[in-house]
Amino acid sequence: MSGNFLALAQPGVQQLSPYVPGKPVDELARELNLDPSKIVKLASNENPLGPSPKVLSAIRDALAELTRYPDGNGFALKSLLAENCRVDLNQVTLGNGSNDILELVGRAYLAPGLNAVFSEHAFAVYPIVTQAVGAEARVIPAKDWGHDLPGMLAAIDEQTRVVFIANPNNPTGTWFSAEVLDNFLQDVPEHVLVVLDEAYIEYAEGSDLPDGLDFLAAYPNLLVSRTFSKAYGLASLRVGYGLSTAVVADVLNRVRQPFNVNSLALAAACAAVQDAEYLEEGRRLNESGMLQLQEGFRGLGLGWIPSKGNFICVDLGQEAAPVFQGLLREGVIVRPVANYGMPNHLRITIGLPAENSRFLEALAKVLARG
Ligand SMILES: *Cc1c(COP(=O)(O)O)cnc(C)c1O
Repeated sequence: MSGNFLALAQPGVQQLSPYVPGKPVDELARELNLDPSKIVKLASNENPLGPSPKVLSAIRDALAELTRYPDGNGFALKSLLAENCRVDLNQVTLGNGSNDILELVGRAYLAPGLNAVFSEHAFAVYPIVTQAVGAEARVIPAKDWGHDLPGMLAAIDEQTRVVFIANPNNPTGTWFSAEVLDNFLQDVPEHVLVVLDEAYIEYAEGSDLPDGLDFLAAYPNLLVSRTFSKAYGLASLRVGYGLSTAVVADVLNRVRQPFNVNSLALAAACAAVQDAEYLEEGRRLNESGMLQLQEGFRGLGLGWIPSKGNFICVDLGQEAAPVFQGLLREGVIVRPVANYGMPNHLRITIGLPAENSRFLEALAKVLARG
């Protein structure tokens, strides 16, 4: 007799389902025998600009050191980030993607008998990092698709160690103001670490979204997490970072894998932080693409959830799964969000103007077929 290794997994893990990523272009090309170059993927909030030439050049330079371990302390990148973010070097934690930062938080602060509070329709990684360590995931109903911060506050108890909030949130794109955030932080008990996930904050510059960094000095229980995967266009390299008090950074550093960020990623991220034009071009493209999609939705009589990210959820007013399948057959990959409790929506990443047009044409065609 062999053991039942599903039943032997700890209960929180048994209740998880594996993270479902956006469908890769090559996979769809294989399945439908399509030319991969004709496929449009607007499914994973990736940067449609392609890599910055400055980043490519930095990676080429770093290739010569491939046989060596990376700088486990990430000194060069941390220095740049500390300067950019107006914090000390010892307040920065580097992660293999910002998902790694979320996982470090879970490993360091959560355990059986403890809980993490987060919202309905929140990022899929929050339950994973919570239940992976046997802690309780306390999911609070959303309000108008966004976080109900007062409701989340009310759910906090003595056993709560972490609250995950995303601003803007993925997949909904919803956001909260500086005032709402400040009120929340003022009322959160001191024993609770608030993880403010700002994966899309670079897209929100100049809007009414608060900058989490403005709150770090006042709230020692705040950790801001950010990523190079979205606006900086480095999704495949996996780099993210956390900004917190030096004490929290020290704790996270104790559970971090010694070389969690590889040397090519470090080199690329250093080049990316200094590449203001790339960021600006991406922002402009995102802004116009967001309007392009909204105009298209309006023309099709469809509603959407207003978004501050590089993506938007369209409300199809019917089950979205068949429309998603229809779009695949048209060579367009978007993201179904039924697993986020949103069966009538599809999440579309803002692409290049031509990609957005391709998507809108395909959507019109699929919807007309009924
Ligand atoms: C994309 C995303 C991340 C970033 O993931 P990485 O691990 O940095 O690639 C984090 N949080 C949210 C809400 C996201 O959508």
